[in-house]
Amino acid sequence: MTLPGSPHVAYRGSELFVDDCRLSDLAQRFGTPLYVYSRRSMLAALAAYQRALVGRKHLLCYAMKANSNLAVLQTFARAGCGFDIVSGGELERVLATGGDPAKVVFSGVGKTRAEMQRALQAGVRCFNVESETELELLSKIATASQRTARVSLRVNPDVDAGTHPYISTGLKGNKFGIAHDQALAVYRRAARLPGLEVVGIDCHIGSQITDTSPYLDALDRLLDLVEAIEADGIATIHHVDVGGGLGITYTDESPPAADVLVMALLARIDARGHGHREVWFEPGRSLVGTAGVLLSEVLALKHGEQKNFCIVDAAMNDLVRPAMYEAWMGIVPCTLRDEAPRTYDVVGPVCESGDWLGRERALAVREGDRIAVLSAGAYGMVMASNYNTRPRAAEVMVDGDQAWLIREREEVRDLFARERLIE
Ligand SMILES: *Cc1c(COP(=O)(O)O)cnc(C)c1O
Repeated sequence: MTLPGSPHVAYRGSELFVDDCRLSDLAQRFGTPLYVYSRRSMLAALAAYQRALVGRKHLLCYAMKANSNLAVLQTFARAGCGFDIVSGGELERVLATGGDPAKVVFSGVGKTRAEMQRALQAGVRCFNVESETELELLSKIATASQRTARVSLRVNPDVDAGTHPYISTGLKGNKFGIAHDQALAVYRRAARLPGLEVVGIDCHIGSQITDTSPYLDALDRLLDLVEAIEADGIATIHHVDVGGGLGITYTDESPPAADVLVMALLARIDARGHGHREVWFEPGRSLVGTAGVLLSEVLALKHGEQKNFCIVDAAMNDLVRPAMYEAWMGIVPCTLRDEAPRTYDVVGPVCESGDWLGRERALAVREGDRIAVLSAGAYGMVMASNYNTRPRAAEVMVDGDQAWLIREREEVRDLFARERLIE
């Protein structure tokens, strides 16, 4: 049986493995719910981008909001990767990991004064600025601290990435970026403000994109602007940042391979005479998504008149993608049984009807069995909450037959440690 997603997650006989680690053993050793990631899978995903960029001036920034565990960041930092951050908190994670601030780009539509100050002090490579207001504030803060902020404007190219509305970001009417038809005026303003150095242009059109064409459309729109900016003598654009958003296979999607996408974009850049510029990417999901699984134990099976429920110990607080985006994620047993499957809704214990991980899934499982939710390495643990006073899951990194606990399971007393009783 071949599974969608990473080749590092596969059955050997009737047992599911990540690399050379049997998932039943990891569940036994570390408990459930448990996130398990394959370091090899993450590095292979990164290598696909890197090999297409050999000989090219480039910067690869892992969009760490997809999975910001320190060991994940360490894995990418050691492999030469930079980071795309969207908060001051993420910057502190990069610094705690020993990541290089000179390879950090600071994105996000609402940066605070304190975050800008800290990022300037740390020496981040570039601020991806999303409004004129932000530009002015950054100019003031940089001037006051006698520093120069390198900036790039995040332009909204108004292209339809063809994804779920909640994860599409490059259309008019979206909160992100500066409208394409205003961008030239904002560049002019940026070039005149003290404390700023205009260095690039940026976009990010959405997430879980499975086609090359929206990227090419967005790139064309950016290059049009670059030509206009330079023709008007406003600034020199050193780099073009095409953002992240490349999709992964959850079920039957067939996104382009990262190297194929990158080569198509480079070919377009060259064809339009922009080959001398640095090319930057901000991939998140495509670096970590398929590398991870969420393990859970079957607590109870309920066979009803209309539906059967498989109630597991992982819930929407552990993995919110199905509840939030109606995302389809593969669910398979950690140990295959030679029994006829039944159709189940796989649900968690949280008191919400929206608490489900998968609907109408054929599974041969018994109470006490473990299941794995596939391709859960991105936007899984990072979006976990403590709803229903549920401690968040533990996380394990695997490489070959080695397994490291990279985040301890929370304990209930941690959850209300900062709360106070009153008189
Ligand atoms: C989220 C985000 C990314 C990464 O998106 P993926 O779909 O995970 O690749 C890149 N850039 C910015 C600005 C983002 O907000």
